[in-house]
Amino acid sequence: MPQQPPPAASLDPGQVPGAIDEPPLISADMHPPVDLAEDLERFNARLATYLKPEDIARVGAAYVFADAAHRGQMRLSGAPYISHPLAVAEALAGWHLDPHALSAALLHDVMEDTAITKEQIAERFGQVTAELVDGVSKLDRIEHQSFEEAQAENFRKMLLAMARDVRVILIKLADRLHNMKTLDVMRSEKRRRIARETLDIYAPIANRLGLNALYRELQELAFRHAHPLRYRVLSKAVKGARGNRREVVSKILDAIRQALPAAGIDAEVMGREKHLYGIYRKMREKHLSFSQVLDIYGFRIIVKDRATCYLALGALHALYQPVPGKFKDYIAIPKANGYQSLHTTLIGPFGTPVEIQIRNADMHHVAESGVASHWLYKDESSIDQLQKKTSKWLQSLVELQSTSGDSSEFLEHVKVDLFPSEVYVFSPRGKIFALPRGSTPVDLAYAVHTDIGDRCVACRINFETMPLRTELRNGDRVEIITAPNAAPNPAWLGYVKSARARSKIRHFLNTKQHEESAALGERLLSHALRDLGLALAKLPAQAWDRFKRASGARSQKAVLAEIGLGKRLPAIVARRLAEGVEAAAPAGVATEGRAQHAILIHGPEGVAVVLGNCCRPIPGDPIVGLIRKGRGLVVHTHDCPAIAKLRSERGNWVDVEWEPGITGMFDASIRVIAKNVRGVLARVAAGIAEADSNIVNISMDDDSGEATTLFFTLQVTDRVHLARILRAVRRIPEVVRITRYVDTKH
Ligand code: MN
Repeated sequence: MPQQPPPAASLDPGQVPGAIDEPPLISADMHPPVDLAEDLERFNARLATYLKPEDIARVGAAYVFADAAHRGQMRLSGAPYISHPLAVAEALAGWHLDPHALSAALLHDVMEDTAITKEQIAERFGQVTAELVDGVSKLDRIEHQSFEEAQAENFRKMLLAMARDVRVILIKLADRLHNMKTLDVMRSEKRRRIARETLDIYAPIANRLGLNALYRELQELAFRHAHPLRYRVLSKAVKGARGNRREVVSKILDAIRQALPAAGIDAEVMGREKHLYGIYRKMREKHLSFSQVLDIYGFRIIVKDRATCYLALGALHALYQPVPGKFKDYIAIPKANGYQSLHTTLIGPFGTPVEIQIRNADMHHVAESGVASHWLYKDESSIDQLQKKTSKWLQSLVELQSTSGDSSEFLEHVKVDLFPSEVYVFSPRGKIFALPRGSTPVDLAYAVHTDIGDRCVACRINFETMPLRTELRNGDRVEIITAPNAAPNPAWLGYVKSARARSKIRHFLNTKQHEESAALGERLLSHALRDLGLALAKLPAQAWDRFKRASGARSQKAVLAEIGLGKRLPAIVARRLAEGVEAAAPAGVATEGRAQHAILIHGPEGVAVVLGNCCRPIPGDPIVGLIRKGRGLVVHTHDCPAIAKLRSERGNWVDVEWEPGITGMFDASIRVIAKNVRGVLARVAAGIAEADSNIVNISMDDDSGEATTLFFTLQVTDRVHLARILRAVRRIPEVVRITRYVDTKH
């Protein structure tokens, strides 16, 4: 991280660094001169081994640009900041990556740390480089999110899912490697955290991509910083043991170096030094002592081709006795990351186990640099070809794996990681959730808990309020906002992606509709029964049993719900139930002359009772109810034109009345014709507000004549309230006409 703030002046991409006139932020003695000439020379030499001069020039331009952008910034160590991107690019040059990736490595921190934008990079270095830089910057941003330690696996998947281009991951890994190499200047606690993260996240990614040399180096560095004391003790012990081991090692080496040529095999043989983290892990995981781990000797044998690998194996098995069950043929059945070798363990002199790896040069190359070895940059390679090469590599792995019968594990590792079907997001507490691609905050809410899903009303994504239907992207931080009385909205079914959310929403809606319909059905049936002098509550159980048997209904509640939904007529059900049951009391114990059979309406009741959208009845209006099949009870005004044509039909009409003393707000529509003058809408709206009403909706007929027609949907308590509003609006001089409005289209 830079110590100094980025230069305030934005950089003209065309400028050469020397031309940037900027006062020195740091004095010469604060900023010990670090000579990068040597590093640059090494970098150039490495590029020259595989790039054309014009490509080297392109990479050089990226260096000049990055150097200028980071001018004045320093690493914690005091080195100029550019030394870091240079080291990252050098590592990538070691893997022979293409000029785009090298340029992006040099520019990888300019978007985060300076005022340079992605557009500026694209303009200067092209879209491919800009996308790579942007990809790395995105990874850096999620890296700064905290996450629960137990979720390292999900975090790894999220990184891979976000990268899309393998090169982004390669840049990120090289970035992490250099940061690990320069970790000494950090506070010890921060050092430990970064080291832990490297062991949990980045080393396994390197392993999965087959970058074994990098994998070991990251582990070694991380081990040193995460467990400094254990590292020191082990490293001292290994040094001490080396003297004793040397004799055994050279004895075995000599034996092998004689045995192979004797069998006509030309081979390169080397002793393998065990790395400290590997020793440490073996001690911990296999509960072995230090000497038990160190007593295993490792050798690597590299031969010219695949067939010779097996010949060498035979020669070695003749030299020393093999340990049964330890032979593994990773040539015939490669590991998931493409690794190929023969592994065997022999019983060496003095009875010590000797571990042998046999491979050819190609396999060795893959073993050391994995996916990067397939990205080797060649002159003629276009990016297209490189992409094709990567897919070909993946394809070849698929084929190798499927013959080994272990394709499911392979697919899980490579395909899922590089082409994931999941999206990974953070909760505000840093928990990572994996959701199907295309998921929305509603899916996340249901993944957290059914109650959160059922009550979610809004969400904030990366601290910004967003609609619930927003598609989530990898690395988003999502906060769900709930309200105690909220309920699932049927519209959610249109965009949720997870099966869990879908089924929970369906379940809620079905249950709710069933409950509401059953409650309405109960009211309708009791009224129908009262006409026959019967009370629903006092109906004998046999009456219901008989009815259910005859009608094939599942339960009493199901019958009530069907009545509520208009699928059964209450009068008919009542008559069938009444058969053989004696009327308890004479019909109609009238009270206050009210039509005692009417159903009382106290407002809309979910799906079971709705107020007609056409006439929008309000308390005080004479009303009539109509049961429509599958839609429950719809309440209309007596004079609603929408039901006029149904009047003559024998429909399922129900007597309804407003509940006495009803309170609440009801929607009413009005139409205002006013003179087409400036400010008339504001004046009408003010008049409505003064009469204590809220405007729910306004629309306008856009005739540009002398008069304009305005439609309002208002909230009113009843007819008296509406009359007061109409009077108030009528008093406005520009208003020509005002009426309550019935929408005949509904
Ligand atoms: Mn960096």
